[in-house]
Amino acid sequence: MTDVAKTEKARLHFPDLEELRAVLQTGLADNFAEVKVSVVECPDLTKKPFNFPVKGLCGSPRVTDVGGVPYLVPVVQKQKEYDMNAVSKELELPGAFILGAGAVPSRIVGINAELMPLVLTEADGRPAVNSSYFSSINPVDGQCLQERYSDKFSDCNFGLLGNLYACEGRPGKVIEVRAKRRTGERSIVTALRKTLEVHYPDKSLALGGTFIIQKGKAKIHIMPREFSVCPLTCDEEVNGWLKHFEVNAPLICQSVLVSKDPGLDLRVEHTHCFSHHGEGGHYYIDTTPDSVEYLGYFMPAEFMYRIDRPSETHAVGRD
Ligand code: ZN
Repeated sequence: MTDVAKTEKARLHFPDLEELRAVLQTGLADNFAEVKVSVVECPDLTKKPFNFPVKGLCGSPRVTDVGGVPYLVPVVQKQKEYDMNAVSKELELPGAFILGAGAVPSRIVGINAELMPLVLTEADGRPAVNSSYFSSINPVDGQCLQERYSDKFSDCNFGLLGNLYACEGRPGKVIEVRAKRRTGERSIVTALRKTLEVHYPDKSLALGGTFIIQKGKAKIHIMPREFSVCPLTCDEEVNGWLKHFEVNAPLICQSVLVSKDPGLDLRVEHTHCFSHHGEGGHYYIDTTPDSVEYLGYFMPAEFMYRIDRPSETHAVGRD
């Protein structure tokens, strides 16, 4: 891990789940025709379609923003690589379950690709369990190639950047979000984030969790196998380099969002999805607003940790 000494920590506003439920119920109704937000027992996430290495999203919930887009563009800094086991210690939660969105360690994988982290980190002699997926551009047909990380590699590393939710992986009460038929312009993640931003204008809140796009299609991107040789200096150049696809439900999406950056140069939302039919990558929004159906489970985080914050920063490529 590079520059662990730089880790910064901020306490987040952590409202009562019932209060949060009511706020999200009201806010999401601006963006979806049917919304039902509830406080429920977390479903067993070891079951299909999640197949996570832990049962729940509860116990010491926290989020982290590791590295950042400035290590990818304008020019890649390939030496930026992190170990989930070391990250869990930085989060003061060794043995944590970690999910979210990141990039593969290109030094190990040999190419650049999207990473869908799902890692139970090592603790007290128990080895790590890496249930992550990664998606790259298939060199044969230029389409999405999704693979299980542990089928090819034995580490728990990632590269360049990661937006991660960490917890003890315990069962417990969580926020359930059911939303159907999108009537607004915002993705479900942006709608959740903007709702919190509007309701708590002076506070920073973060949510992490997982949601299923049960019906419809979604727009995603996958980074090319090779890093750009030309410096990418604006969103248009970054989007020209990325490969965009429309993919099919059911998609299982892991998300981290922050309502308000407490001055840590954060990426305020980041969501990666996987599926059991070979499609996965970086989620933007559904492309089928009239038929889309979402089912999600989220927890607010008590703390934000900023690990290896880039000293030279910019706002390019954070969509
Ligand atoms: Zn991404």
